[in-house]
Amino acid sequence: MSYEARSAPLIEMRGIVKTYNIGKENELEILHGIDLTVHAGEFVAIVGESGSGKSTLMNIIGALDKPTQGCYLLDGIDVRRAGRDEMSEVRNRKIGFVFQNFNLIRRTTAQKNVELPMLYAGAGSRRREQRARELLDLVGMETRRLHQPNELSGGQKQRVAIARSLVNDPAILLADEPTGALDSETSRTVMDIFHRLHRDQGKTIVLITHSQDLAAECPRIVKLKDGRVAADQRKESFHAGA
Ligand code: ADP
Ligand code: MG
Repeated sequence: MSYEARSAPLIEMRGIVKTYNIGKENELEILHGIDLTVHAGEFVAIVGESGSGKSTLMNIIGALDKPTQGCYLLDGIDVRRAGRDEMSEVRNRKIGFVFQNFNLIRRTTAQKNVELPMLYAGAGSRRREQRARELLDLVGMETRRLHQPNELSGGQKQRVAIARSLVNDPAILLADEPTGALDSETSRTVMDIFHRLHRDQGKTIVLITHSQDLAAECPRIVKLKDGRVAADQRKESFHAGA
């Protein structure tokens, strides 16, 4: 059975255009009309050369930025029409972000880093601590939970960042080159965590990578070329069991 038959899409983009520096001399159209539909439970790799527009697209998917033209429904919410507050609320509730450079807060523990998005969401301290411990355990970082980022390796920092991305139980995990700063062995550990979250928890994952090898592990690969979707391939075998 296809994804289309099972669920309404989480991400539905039609004709997404992104132009930077509108009206200025250096105006530049970067995305030229992207159509992309992602359903709950999918694991999609977005690949493409440096400069092809992957991060620009990720910022729009994650409601960090608005498209210049086109329609984007994020779990049914029209992101283009949403106000600033509604955007940040949608973001906090629906999306877990993982970045290449981890974006952890220095001089505070792994535990507190993971708790932070829950603090913003208004959760009490016991609940926050319990949830953070649970997630640090899930990524194999429970023994390091009181360490600060500068006492952790790159792979460990990324595992903490993944735990943090999950804390509000988002519908979608969005990861922009999450293994870009990691060696191949550490990348493996991080990829295994994403596969596990997809397989065991049914998480919807959009993973941006310029590694063809890592993309090849994913059930669906969307290839960007110069701001357009050049290919969108699914592995049918993953479909049946997903
Ligand atoms: P990728 O992530 O695939 O490497 P990006 O989405 O970061 O690509 O960038 C695509 C293009 O958009 C690049 O040419 C980049 O210089 C340009 N770009 C990205 N962000 C901005 C911005 N804020 N203002 C102007 N141009 C930008
Ligand atoms: Mg990028």
